[in-house]
Amino acid sequence: MLAGAALLTSTACGAGSAETGGGAGGGKPAVVAAFYPLQWLSEQVGGPDAAVSVLTAPGVEPHDLELGAHQMAELGDASLIVYIKGVQPAVDEAVDADKAFDAATAVKTLPAGHEEAGHDEAGHEGEAEEHDHEVSYDPHLWLDPARLATVATRLGERLAAADPAHAQGYKDRAATTAASLGALDKEFTQGLASCRSRTLVTAHEAFGYLADRYRLKQVGITLDPDAEPSPARLAEVARLAKTEKVTTVFTESLVNPKVAQVLASEVGARTAVLDPLESKPSGDYLSAMRANLTTLRTALGCGA
Ligand SMILES: [Zn+2]
Repeated sequence: MLAGAALLTSTACGAGSAETGGGAGGGKPAVVAAFYPLQWLSEQVGGPDAAVSVLTAPGVEPHDLELGAHQMAELGDASLIVYIKGVQPAVDEAVDADKAFDAATAVKTLPAGHEEAGHDEAGHEGEAEEHDHEVSYDPHLWLDPARLATVATRLGERLAAADPAHAQGYKDRAATTAASLGALDKEFTQGLASCRSRTLVTAHEAFGYLADRYRLKQVGITLDPDAEPSPARLAEVARLAKTEKVTTVFTESLVNPKVAQVLASEVGARTAVLDPLESKPSGDYLSAMRANLTTLRTALGCGA
């Protein structure tokens, strides 16, 4: 019975499952990361001791990922699944809690729509209706390097427990990764210390943690990258952008920039791409975040 199931799995999955499936032979633990920043983190911490794969292919917007037979088999074979509850409903439903590491449990999360609720007395209660995530917090925590450093440490502990023979390696690499993220955090703190504007008008509300960490204010056109903004929301964002003398409306490579472009021309701003790192960038997490910092410093008029 079990052998039959294993056979079916490897047939469905092709040759790849033999390499990554943590089955017989005591191979490396198979770590399945839900989407890019978690893949990067798992590779940094797992190093040569873990076989890391990713569920969301490069160039695919992760929020609406649907899982095929191959990916279900990958999840079934995984030693550890690294994900963030609330980003991908399909993954939330498919993971086996016993072998899953939810990065959102490692850090203090922010409520969804935090920017409006917390710092902007105008408020946008109506927007919650557009939000189809199943959690009440904002899941985009990887855009705060300091929080991601904490996740790295917890992931190292989790991998060390799952694969005790290589515990020291996981812990050492987690410490190195947390240190790189700490250095990145310092660069952001210094780079965004003194800016003419602190308002980020973004295509979708992915940058709440970055805004919170570095004292910026995010005004997102939509909460969900697939949602069409309502005319009322667009008018509201345009009004805010004018009041705050916003020079740049940020777009993303995986979201159609049309709405942002229309808004930008309406308020006399330009557009620039800010990468929410929901998919693999051309470099890696660190280099893409440094490119984001350069983009932010230019757009917000930040001094040395
Ligand atoms: Zn997102």
